Amino acid sequence: MIVAQIILEEQDVQRILASHRFRPKDWKGFLKFLSENLGDALGDAVWNQVRDLAELYRLREDCPHEHTTLSASGEMHYTPGWGPWDDLREEVICLDCGKALTDQELERLKARRLSA
Ligand SMILES: [Zn+2]
Repeated sequence: MIVAQIILEEQDVQRILASHRFRPKDWKGFLKFLSENLGDALGDAVWNQVRDLAELYRLREDCPHEHTTLSASGEMHYTPGWGPWDDLREEVICLDCGKALTDQELERLKARRLSA
């Protein structure tokens, strides 16, 4: 099972370094250097991120999601010949662990609140 693959294209590198004062003069040479060394450079970061995310996931597994807030995203759109439409979405976010709660978790939370 592949957990993650990172694809970094030249345009991403351009964007990252757009306003950077150390932008290399030999751009093609830099891209070659980057492709040879970025994998190793990411190794440590990946190691730490996997551990941090495991910790976050463990916290979420144990979190009772007691403090929540309703979060809305998206907006209204209008397409000529089609009409108005929206991609509005509402999510219940746990303020303690940051998780967007699933319908199943919301049902459980509701049941627990009713029985308390
Ligand atoms: Zn939570």
